[in-house]
Amino acid sequence: MKPPPFAYHRPRGLQEALDVLGSLRDDAKVLAGGQSLVPLMSMRLSAPAHLVDVNHVPGLDTVEVDDDVVRVGALARHSQVEHHAAAYDAVPLLRQALRLVAHPTIRNRGTTVGSLVHADPAAEMPAVLCLLDGTVTLRDADGSRDVAAADFFVGPMESALRPGELAVHATFRRPPAGSGSAFVEVSRRQGDYAMCGVGAVVRRDGTARVALVSVGAGPVLVDLAAALDHESLDLDRVSELVDAAIDPEADIHASADYRRHLAHVLVRRALVEARHRAEGRAAA
Ligand SMILES: Cc1cc2nc3c(=O)[nH]c(=O)nc-3n(C[C@H](O)[C@H](O)[C@H](O)COP(=O)(O)OP(=O)(O)OC[C@H]3O[C@@H](n4cnc5c(N)ncnc54)[C@H](O)[C@@H]3O)c2cc1C
Repeated sequence: MKPPPFAYHRPRGLQEALDVLGSLRDDAKVLAGGQSLVPLMSMRLSAPAHLVDVNHVPGLDTVEVDDDVVRVGALARHSQVEHHAAAYDAVPLLRQALRLVAHPTIRNRGTTVGSLVHADPAAEMPAVLCLLDGTVTLRDADGSRDVAAADFFVGPMESALRPGELAVHATFRRPPAGSGSAFVEVSRRQGDYAMCGVGAVVRRDGTARVALVSVGAGPVLVDLAAALDHESLDLDRVSELVDAAIDPEADIHASADYRRHLAHVLVRRALVEARHRAEGRAAA
């Protein structure tokens, strides 16, 4: 199928993009990598009257690393972030998760910020943003605001982005020194969206957090501090905490019970991998 007709806008600067978005508001969608929006339009599940293609706006394709954070610009492609050496050194979880996002050809075009705004409950990067206490910076013609991950994912395919806003960058906080991380998942075929996925960050003192995908309306962040027992995790207690947090649904790929089973298995697997890395026993 072909998309319904739409007007195409190609702003050449950030202010022009914000002005166009501000004048069109609800009638417009930002076009970034197009890897989610274009298929939705072709299937006629989305029919914006205007597309604002931000691919020609300079200055949005950056990945910046400092002592505290990795900042990913709106046009940084998944593959650019995945292969960025300094970003990997600062936050290995970025690459650990990104290599599970779709296929290389899709990662070459799709953007990490676009994935956050799209807010698919099966997507990996929203879980990573939650685990790393990240923020998304949103701008409109009048100013900008930072939205914390905990407030950004409002529901399935729904973020805190308002009409007229552009997400200009996402900020991922470095985990504390000595932490280890991992992202593991099960999908029907390599590159498919996960039936369940789990990211984990384990600190040297044994405290840990996990974030799960495909088992709730958005990323499900679970703090496992209550499962800590003399510097190691009580895995039965971990399962109880995870069980209470998730709310998986059945679809054509998996039953709700199977997703719940996967959540338990993958949480344990992610915690083992992350802990090994925290102890310096495994390569990323
Ligand atoms: C076959 C296939 C498999 C995939 N598998 C996975 C997977 O396993 N895991 C995964 O996470 N993703 C997967 N994806 C999606 C992929 O990661 C997309 O690239 C990503 O979800 C959206 O990024 P994009 O840059 O392509 O955004 P687009 O498709 O351009 O936009 C998506 C939505 O976000 C909005 N948007 C994008 N950027 C901005 C911005 N800067 N400001 C405001 N609004 C914005 C758009 O208006 C639109 O509503 C898959 C895609 C395909 C086609």
